[in-house]
Amino acid sequence: MPSLLRVSDITVTFGGRRALDGAGLTAEAGRVTGLIGPNGAGKSTLFDVICGLRRPAAGRVRLGERDITRMAPARRARHGMARTFQRLELFGRLSVRDNLLVAAELGPYRRKAKKIADEIIDRLELGDRAGDLADALPTGLARLVEVGRALAVRPTLLLLDEPAAGQDSTETDRFADLLRSVAADGTAVVLVEHDMGLVMSVCDHMYVLDLGKVIADGPPEVIRADEQVLAAYLGAA
Ligand code: ADP
Ligand code: MG
Repeated sequence: MPSLLRVSDITVTFGGRRALDGAGLTAEAGRVTGLIGPNGAGKSTLFDVICGLRRPAAGRVRLGERDITRMAPARRARHGMARTFQRLELFGRLSVRDNLLVAAELGPYRRKAKKIADEIIDRLELGDRAGDLADALPTGLARLVEVGRALAVRPTLLLLDEPAAGQDSTETDRFADLLRSVAADGTAVVLVEHDMGLVMSVCDHMYVLDLGKVIADGPPEVIRADEQVLAAYLGAA
């Protein structure tokens, strides 16, 4: 079976500087795929290309059998793609529950929006906070609600941009379980994350991006030992 997502040879330039330089990856249904790399490597830009917010100068994005390189973001969303942003995008003056409800109402299951919002509150164990304004949440919880909003469209492809930033270690452990269970439901999860403990424990396969190029890919245990990867990180530090 072909991969759900196949991204190949992507080039993006900003004012003549290449943010992505022939980058690509694939993601499989039922798997968590990691995308790591130093700040500025191009991870968020690659997500922008995958979800249609940025048109690449070269390269292709395929979802299942379909070439979606030129498809508008809203249509990609209707084809089952959801993403979270590195900067939070919650409605601060709405409650946790209403944030989830609005997201579900924008998705393909709007007639079941209430049920979906309640399911996600249960699944993310947000019952105690469901009535709180998003603005009042600590960052770790706000990130969790952001992931909940993405789940509210019941995505087949879920792109998460640093979802665990600001979570404490207990929250991160629970989050790892959540990612495994989302993948077990058949969703293809792509995870950009700096928390190496989290990435190494949940990813089935990883890609390492440096200066817009994929410099390594493989299972976590191979990536962990890769000299070029270590050099990219130590060089950046
Ligand atoms: P990462 O998510 O890996 O930290 P980004 O994709 O955010 O990296 O950025 C990759 C490179 O592209 C960086 O050098 C960044 O400064 C640049 N960049 C990102 N977005 C823009 C933009 N809108 N305009 C100009 N440069 C950008
Ligand atoms: Mg980023």
